[in-house]
Amino acid sequence: MLLAARGFKVTVFEKDPHVGGRNAAILRNGYKFDTGPTFLMMKFILDEVFEEAGRRIDDYLKCVKLEPMYRLQFEDVRLEPTTNREAMLRQLDTHFPANRAGYDKFMAVEKERFHRMYPCLQKDYASVKQYLSKDMLRALPKLSIGRSLISVLGDYFREEKLKLSFTFQSKYLGMSAWDCPGAFAILPYVEHAFGVYHVMGGLSEISEAMAKVGRELGVNLRLATAVKQLLLEGRSVRGVQLASGERVLADETVLNADFGYAMKNLVPPGVLKKYSPDNVDARQYSCSTFMLYLGLDKTYDLPHHTIFFAGDYRRNISDIFQTKVLSEDISFYVRNASITDLALAPPGHSAVYVLVPVPNRTAPIDWAKENTAFRDRVVAALEKRAGMTDLQQHIREEIAFTPQTWQNMNIQFGATFNLAHSLRQMLYFRPRNKFEELDNCYLVGGGTHPGSGLPTIYESGRIAANLISRRYGVQFVSRNTQV
Ligand SMILES: Cc1cc2nc3c(=O)[nH]c(=O)nc-3n(C[C@H](O)[C@H](O)[C@H](O)COP(=O)(O)OP(=O)(O)OC[C@H]3O[C@@H](n4cnc5c(N)ncnc54)[C@H](O)[C@@H]3O)c2cc1C
Repeated sequence: MLLAARGFKVTVFEKDPHVGGRNAAILRNGYKFDTGPTFLMMKFILDEVFEEAGRRIDDYLKCVKLEPMYRLQFEDVRLEPTTNREAMLRQLDTHFPANRAGYDKFMAVEKERFHRMYPCLQKDYASVKQYLSKDMLRALPKLSIGRSLISVLGDYFREEKLKLSFTFQSKYLGMSAWDCPGAFAILPYVEHAFGVYHVMGGLSEISEAMAKVGRELGVNLRLATAVKQLLLEGRSVRGVQLASGERVLADETVLNADFGYAMKNLVPPGVLKKYSPDNVDARQYSCSTFMLYLGLDKTYDLPHHTIFFAGDYRRNISDIFQTKVLSEDISFYVRNASITDLALAPPGHSAVYVLVPVPNRTAPIDWAKENTAFRDRVVAALEKRAGMTDLQQHIREEIAFTPQTWQNMNIQFGATFNLAHSLRQMLYFRPRNKFEELDNCYLVGGGTHPGSGLPTIYESGRIAANLISRRYGVQFVSRNTQV
């Protein structure tokens, strides 16, 4: 979108017959599911990207702010966080008295952290000068280096469940709150400050809208066209060779495939050093997810988003990230978007999406064997803990994804949220948008800077587009107005 709007001739190669990747729609007999993302956060980044492409987002998408944002269901307590301060404080008074001051402190301190960190997320880190920039030095004291997210939330709240209510967001990065760097306390902050959005028709509509704008601007979108390998001349990328054998030359090449997969499969063997296959394998990765997409012949009385915490959440986290086994007592997330969006299922029916964080494919779990039993465990949990009585009898369509399914979609280790966001894999230390190892080549997407998640992958695209534009002396207007 951005490059085409600035006059570049752009061709996109997508192996699937549709756009979207992890953010594509799954259609099945009148039911429509989002494959991956269901929370749209920091919507202002998307607004800006459309604006920079000369478009108004409202002409393409209907985004609805959800209030309350979601329900958090513990065994004995239920919270429905909202961006409305008074309503939020009333809930704290009811369930976690004496935490008003902690909430206000959280919002004030994390606002400051967000405003210091945000410029660092937008840098391209093409040179060490940017790493040592004024912005970075201003942000450094706010990175809570050496502290975990759960520890940082301890500055505001004492009760474990309240801390979890403001740290479960580390799962968006596929990380445990006990390992996730404390700096990511900006994640719950951006939710509470800017809210969470649904996109009518599903979040996959964002991908469709971008494809539409791209086509309007002259992008040649070649679907069902897999890339086999980059074409190299020395250390310069000269274009791509397609699976069909066709060779397409280009002045600049942008790689959006999953980072680990791309390094190991799209770059000719023996070329890379820093990102050689062994090195890429040795990096830290996010967890994976087991998914159920259920087309139901009824609608259950559940909010748009509900997160169910395992009774022993700490043990569940340890199962996923340390011992790498499947938990008996699972945490799971249910998205019941049909209560907001009637277009997702036939009248009176609903399209329900269930996500269960599980170990990635570095764990020795044989999914061909475990799939059915685990699916039954999830359905039993939905019936018992989510109040979805007789669920089994109401399933008209069912699709399950295991970590193996994600891996088959060219995702390294089936790590749905890409490279982990440990301090050693963040900012200057995350794969940069100007590829360090090859010329005329740029990297975008969740495995690259600034990270996994829709707003950040759009930011990676914007950074890459700006780098290319500058290289060719093409002027552009930045609409980045939030900080
Ligand atoms: C289950 C799940 C839930 C999530 N929830 C949220 C959420 O609520 N909010 C949020 O903001 N983010 C969420 N995310 C994260 C978000 O979806 C991702 O960060 C983002 O969609 C990743 O985009 P990407 O472009 O990096 O990768 P992808 O979407 O995987 O794009 C890579 C593309 O490359 C294509 N490709 C691969 N190999 C080739 C090849 N050889 N030739 C041609 N094309 C190829 C793929 O088909 C794909 O279209 C979620 C992710 C998952 C999986």
